[in-house]
Amino acid sequence: MEYVRLGSTDLMVSRTAFGALPIQRVTDFDAAGKILRSAYEGGINFFDTARMYSDSEEKLGLAFSEFRKDVIIATKTGARTGADLREQLETSLRNLQTDYVDLYQLHNPSFVPVPGGEDGLYDALAEARAAGKVRHFGITNHSRVLATEALESGNYESIQFPLSYLSGPDDEAFAIACEKAGVGFIAMKALSGGLITNARAAFAWLRRFEGVVPIWGIQRPEELEEILSLEADEPDLDEALMGTIERDRVELAGAFCRGCGYCLPCPAGIPIQNANRMRELLRRSPPAQWLTDEWAGLMARIDDCTKCGACGTRCPYDLKPWETLPANYAEWKEVKRSFAG
Ligand code: SF4
Ligand code: SF4
Repeated sequence: MEYVRLGSTDLMVSRTAFGALPIQRVTDFDAAGKILRSAYEGGINFFDTARMYSDSEEKLGLAFSEFRKDVIIATKTGARTGADLREQLETSLRNLQTDYVDLYQLHNPSFVPVPGGEDGLYDALAEARAAGKVRHFGITNHSRVLATEALESGNYESIQFPLSYLSGPDDEAFAIACEKAGVGFIAMKALSGGLITNARAAFAWLRRFEGVVPIWGIQRPEELEEILSLEADEPDLDEALMGTIERDRVELAGAFCRGCGYCLPCPAGIPIQNANRMRELLRRSPPAQWLTDEWAGLMARIDDCTKCGACGTRCPYDLKPWETLPANYAEWKEVKRSFAG
């Protein structure tokens, strides 16, 4: 396992990091603990979770409380005021069974908090760091405008931002700018929310950025095995992998739904984060999982869309799901029919 310094911090993190969003879907705490500890035994020492990921923090706490100092834990707060942040941090510390967080991140805020700001967020972060409850702090965002503002402010030690081979050149340049400025770059969505199905290509492409630390969302032991085997035998970005990347870029380039879910909740109960990219999911992953009775009910909710536009105001990519959901539903019905026939 390779370890790199995260930006200018003193955190030496594994270049392959563990994204602990999916672990909340492992209902059995023992099974979740086993995956987390196997990751640690495989050399991963950097685990990224969030207050918003239901019981993910608790699972990390249970898995690592006995050797807390050997792992680097990043979590996030969706707080929008200083008072809120202090309260959420105490909850996270309790869940994680620790008295400090290695990296505390503001979770996708809609603005970049500054020292002395009315919201009190930045000052609460600085205060938590001074009290030793937080060793370093950073920010996560899906908006390059806000992420750039955070970088230019010089106030944040890390920035978590989506980066994959489907990202545009501006996003690549942003990652390089962070590296040059000594700000840790944590890459989320390395598989672009499930649209990239070739982990080998995704891994090799991201490895070109020396200062970028991707967090791989892991839920199943086989996913962990795959990512550890790539780490152990690093793939070259050869012609064959570049061919895959080029084909995917042609097929998926542009304004596509990343499945981030920031547009939710939808008053009609539409699971926009999957429904709005159903065409791609049907083409790029085993379709049977999307053709169940449960999905028939979920997709049917698209007929109830009132075009209220609420999702569009929250989408960091300025998408208008109400315009694209019907085509996704039409294709879903088509594929369902072809399977039935
Ligand atoms: S426009 Fe449609 S999909 Fe978007 S939030 Fe409103 S009801 Fe939901
Ligand atoms: S519509 Fe936008 S916010 Fe919603 S899941 Fe897709 S990319 Fe994310």
